[in-house]
Formats: sequence, C-alpha cells, structure tokens
Amino acid sequence: MNRTPIESVQTLEGTPGIEAHFIGRIPGLSISVERSEAMALLAPQHHRILQQSGLENFPLVTAEQIHGKEIAIVTGATTSAIQGVDALITCTRALTLGIYVADCAPVWIVARDGSAGALVHAGKKGTELGIVPLVIEKLLKITELDSQDLIVVIGPCIRPPCYEIDFAARIREQARACGVLDIHDPEICTACHPELYYSYRSEKGLTGRMLATLTLLPS
Ligand SMILES: [Zn+2]
Repeated sequence: MNRTPIESVQTLEGTPGIEAHFIGRIPGLSISVERSEAMALLAPQHHRILQQSGLENFPLVTAEQIHGKEIAIVTGATTSAIQGVDALITCTRALTLGIYVADCAPVWIVARDGSAGALVHAGKKGTELGIVPLVIEKLLKITELDSQDLIVVIGPCIRPPCYEIDFAARIREQARACGVLDIHDPEICTACHPELYYSYRSEKGLTGRMLATLTLLPS
C-alpha cells in the first residue's frame, strides 16, 4: 500500500478551528520536469488528496510566489494564484490557503485561538527580505492579536549541510525578535529525505512541489 503523502502539522493539531497540512512527494508519480509541467502533473493529485482529507469544499487560494516580500490579505476565493505575492494572510473562514515549496520553507503563522492565520513561502531570498516578520507585523495590525498569541511553525526545507545557508534558523530568530514565543521547527531537511520530499536543489530543478495548506474551518 502506498504511503499517504499528506501530513498534519502536529504542532497545530490542538488549535481550534484550523487544519494545517503538508502534502509531500506523491508516491509512484515520476516528476523530472520543470515547474509548470510539474504543477500540471501534481494538480489532480493534490486535488484528490485534499478531497480525501475532507477539505474539498473550501476554495484553495494560492500565491504566484516570486521570492519577494509582498503579502496578500485573502478575503475570498480567487480564480487564479494571487500575483506578485509570497505570503497569504486570512481571517476568512471556510477557505484554504496554499503555498508550494521544494526546499524553500513553508511557514505557518497561526493565532492560538484559531481566529486568523498566514502561510508564507520563505527561502533564502524571502528570509533576507524579512518576509516572515513583515507577515507577523501585518497580521497583528489587522487583528486584535498580540505577538504572544501567535504560533509559528516552520515546515520541511533544505538545511545545512545540504545547503550553505540556514535560513530556517534565521526565520526562528526573526519570529523571536517580533516577540513570538511559540516557535516550532522540527528541523526536517527536504534534501535528506528524497523518499518523502521533493528537493529543487538535489534534483537540479527538475522535480515536483509540495503543497502546504492552512484551512480556517467554518465556525
Ligand atoms: Zn539535508
């Protein structure tokens, strides 16, 4: 039997009203192609997995992801990926945010009471630009929340020694500097686990993408 490639983000399992997942490498699907072709192969697989997870009724809102620092505040379904942004913030329920990664880090930033959340695509460049602190700042600005009300979780990404820069460690420092106390990083390296994850660097750019999701369930 095939391993189910969807993991629940365990740290966030106790957070009311939200579901956070990470879809890893799809077993039995060979992907040695560039991004657009890989995305076309993966779309029906991701759709099927979200369906099996009971998340099919919630529109999936994604970002263009250009390794920048722009952020979108999502208030409803969109017909295509939101252009020019690498982070999505929402307080809208019955919606799933999605970020694609293969070595860059997916970062979940979630209100402890489940009232709001964000998903960020943060690699070397986005981390240098400070996208995570920018998202924290914006999330606090649009809600009544305090930095201590937030939980930050860093997902699987490439790390030393497979990569020369420890951007995940930098993200932890940045979140701490914003006053967030609840920071979780299981320190999983994508390149070290080719059976579970796609790695852009170790597969020389010809690989798939993982899908990180954050759903605010209907209240
Ligand atoms: Zn590694």
